[in-house]
Amino acid sequence: MVSRTIPVDSFDLVIFGATGDLARRKILPGLFRRFASGQMPEDAKLIGAARSEMDVTAYRQVVREALLEFADVESKPDDVIEGFLRHLEFVTVDATGDDGWSELRSLLRAGVVRAFYFSVAPSLFGDIAERLKTKGLADEDSRIVVEKPFGRDLKSAKALNASLATYFDESQIYRIDHYLGKETVQNLMAVRFANILFEPLWNAQFIDHVQITVAETVGVGGRGSYYDKSGAMRDMVQNHLMQLLCLIAMEPPSRFEPDAVRDEKLKVIRALDPVPPSDVVRGQYRAGKDLTGYLEDVEDPDSITESFVAMKVQISNWRWQGTPFYMRTGKRLRNRTSEIVIRFKETPHSIFGPNSGSAANEMSIRLQPNEGIDLRLTIKEPGPGGMRLVDVPLDMTFSEILGVKLKDIPDAYERLIMDVIRGNQTLFMRGDEVEAAWAWSDPIIETWENGDQQPDGYDSGSAGPESALELIHRDGRRWRELRG
Ligand code: NAP
Repeated sequence: MVSRTIPVDSFDLVIFGATGDLARRKILPGLFRRFASGQMPEDAKLIGAARSEMDVTAYRQVVREALLEFADVESKPDDVIEGFLRHLEFVTVDATGDDGWSELRSLLRAGVVRAFYFSVAPSLFGDIAERLKTKGLADEDSRIVVEKPFGRDLKSAKALNASLATYFDESQIYRIDHYLGKETVQNLMAVRFANILFEPLWNAQFIDHVQITVAETVGVGGRGSYYDKSGAMRDMVQNHLMQLLCLIAMEPPSRFEPDAVRDEKLKVIRALDPVPPSDVVRGQYRAGKDLTGYLEDVEDPDSITESFVAMKVQISNWRWQGTPFYMRTGKRLRNRTSEIVIRFKETPHSIFGPNSGSAANEMSIRLQPNEGIDLRLTIKEPGPGGMRLVDVPLDMTFSEILGVKLKDIPDAYERLIMDVIRGNQTLFMRGDEVEAAWAWSDPIIETWENGDQQPDGYDSGSAGPESALELIHRDGRRWRELRG
């Protein structure tokens, strides 16, 4: 099956921070793939903006190199790359100054979708928003895209929301959480809400518990100074894991429309119980063979910032009362894997006897690697000699069943940028959602920051600290193995 490419309206997209890491690694390669697939209109304009002094030829060279490094360009003829580069313009602009804005305005066209991607530090969001409005570059139809981190606590998130709201309506603001752009995450909604099979079982009566895991094998690398001010709770849990939890736990929205979906996600966040310290574990990776430890990777040798978090979360509503959600995320773990596991309850009575081999059903939703969903069912082992049961997967690896190559599935950024052009906010976070998520995570972070306790150490290549295993073992459950 070949995925359909639905063309979008013509657009001008300005990328602030166009020479930065995110633009070169994700945004421009994503746009290139949309261009190569035929989705980008012939007259679409991509306008890079940054303080660097360079002309458009030099900028196109920067982008060419980025594509060679980060996009799959080998399979594309040279004229496709050239064709893409012709869409690019560049303007030297300082977000905090007055130069460059009129040149930028002169490149923008009337009558096409106009979007501004803020791929710069959040401290510049307010400056850019203000200048876009006061210098006449944005109107009430323009869209702005803002990157994470959206604040570092409730107070700063509120301040950011307020500064954007001074110049833009909520319907114009696209807060990116790229996890929501992943194919499997959207498939989670399709599986839940387009099939009658699961929804009747999707509650505390039938689901024993849920596990959400986002594990990385890399350490903080060159991002040590940034990461050390953030930590796993701010960098991953408050946004990405929280969004995944919301999609699993939310009530069916009345329509697959932005505010209907986001209203339901917000209700989940507001129903989260405060997490007591006994239900949270934080860890920090230790040095290993040929590998530096966290404390060597960051500037502060006494840092108590966590590179790992595991927690048990309870949702206080009718649907989920009594079904815990276990979440964990960390760096330098055994395998790079992101998955959600829905563990159903055992059958109330096993007619085949206790030793027959029957196991509880389990659905796992893999975001990476190898995006797909599998459902473990119990069937009879073939052959004579009584009823022996065996646990088998119903495997829905997308690349296999849909006949698409993994590299041809649009990556989260390309999908989300096209959603901005289409004006579809469903997969973007609303301001009140972000604030509610901070209101829930702030007390957890404050407890850590007001203490001086070191996070629990763990070995590189392990599944995290021992205390994270105990967190779930004490409930008579086990984490799913971290499979690559
Ligand atoms: P980066 O590599 O440091 O790039 C920053 C960009 O902003 C550069 O193009 C820089 O170019 C430009 N810039 C800096 N100050 C400016 C100013 N006063 N006016 C205009 N342009 C200015 O940062 P990044 O990693 O790309 O991250 C960008 C944003 O995305 C940040 O909010 C980050 O948190 C977020 N983010 C990044 C990633 C990632 O993987 N990199 C992932 C998720 C979110 P000049 O120096 O030439 O001005």
